[in-house]
Amino acid sequence: MRILITGGAGFLGSHLADRLLAEGHSVIAMDNLLTGNTDNIQHLIGRPDFLFIRHDVTHYIYIGGQLDAVLHFASPASPIDYLKYPIQTLKVGALGTHNALGLALAKGARFLLASTSEVYGDPLVHPQREDYLGNVNTIGPRGVYDEAKRFAESLTMAYHRSHGVDTRIVRIFNTYGERMRLDDGRVVPNFIGQALRGEPLTVYGDGSQTRSFCYVSDLIEGIYRLLMLPPSEDASLPVNLGNPSELSILEFAQLINAITGNRGGITFRHQERIEGDPQTRQPDIARARRLLGYEPAVDLREGLARTIEYFRPRVGITTRSAQQTD
Ligand code: UDP
Repeated sequence: MRILITGGAGFLGSHLADRLLAEGHSVIAMDNLLTGNTDNIQHLIGRPDFLFIRHDVTHYIYIGGQLDAVLHFASPASPIDYLKYPIQTLKVGALGTHNALGLALAKGARFLLASTSEVYGDPLVHPQREDYLGNVNTIGPRGVYDEAKRFAESLTMAYHRSHGVDTRIVRIFNTYGERMRLDDGRVVPNFIGQALRGEPLTVYGDGSQTRSFCYVSDLIEGIYRLLMLPPSEDASLPVNLGNPSELSILEFAQLINAITGNRGGITFRHQERIEGDPQTRQPDIARARRLLGYEPAVDLREGLARTIEYFRPRVGITTRSAQQTD
């Protein structure tokens, strides 16, 4: 297959590119480098089955020739990124998704949307199943991401129902691993960076909020299976992907300090907790198990050990991200 990945120079987009190339497909990675970085795809440049195009998908997307699938992964995805780029976040979820769906329709290509557990907002049911409708504040600071992805899901289903596009929607829960940006502000790179520098880990609030962390290779496996599923009504409905093993952020901080041997301890930053920061989050993955035979295989300690080794030589180096004004 010839496959376009929007956000192809990002954390997940670049891992997907690796996986698709390893399976014998050819990949076009498209990215405007707002939060993505070509370092993530440097090893692929020059391959005959790989092409990188620097382009902002909120503008019309042109791809010549045959295209079999469009994977729409372009978006700022960490809270500090989408707080810094609120309008671009809304535009890439709305206009970017529209352009990517239009391209899939024109090419007769399958379309896969990277959606998020954030469509559930600060959830009132636990764990979150796909039929939970969510608790999102449209005008809260996280609303720009949550609503962009909710709109993107609606538009994807509209293209499926009205135009017959073969679509897939994956709701991604907290995923971590190599190629996350050290300065993206999320808890995994923050804590690992702090621990490797011997500093106290900054727990926002009292640390009682929970998350369920999934190692990147497990997520990519699930996405690949979903993409390759034969078309059906069931295949087009949203699927949660993540790792259901849940822990509090305080427990997570203690684990990072234990694994790294950090003696810097923990400091509580009550004022840094962003309004609407979900108190709990855990995927119900029964649907992924049934539909895809999906089962996360990498446990948290093992995944963190690999991620720590990736960050170790990078601590102290902050990555560049391109400037954009609109
Ligand atoms: N968090 C924290 N310290 C940090 C960064 C994040 O305690 O240095 C908390 C944050 O308040 C949230 C959780 O960790 O409750 C996960 O945050 P992240 O930004 O990784 O992603 P989210 O799951 O909120 O989208």
